[in-house]
Amino acid sequence: MVKLVEIGQQIGEVTCPGCGRPDLPVKVNRGGNVYYFCAAIIGERNGKKEKCFTRHTFGRSASERIKAEYLEQEAINARDQVHEEKQQPPATTETTGDTHVEPPKPRAGNPILDWITG
Ligand SMILES: [Zn+2]
Repeated sequence: MVKLVEIGQQIGEVTCPGCGRPDLPVKVNRGGNVYYFCAAIIGERNGKKEKCFTRHTFGRSASERIKAEYLEQEAINARDQVHEEKQQPPATTETTGDTHVEPPKPRAGNPILDWITG
């Protein structure tokens, strides 16, 4: 089953070409295209906050490629996670019960047992 990228899901980050912000989220729009939109405040002009407002929507083929790469990476991450879960610490002797040894019972003052075994 192929996992799909959901609308509005962040599938990566880019460095904003407008303001240089390094963690600009790359998301998927309703049309299935990949886009980014930067609303970082980059300064002030006439007493008003000036925002970057750099936006870009990738074309269909570029969007499909970016989404495919994202899903591929997700699959690799999921596989790594499963692999890590399998690496559990070895079971201790307390849980296996196989190597549990009963302490020797005292034999002092039991003449009948001495007679049987001796
Ligand atoms: Zn920006």
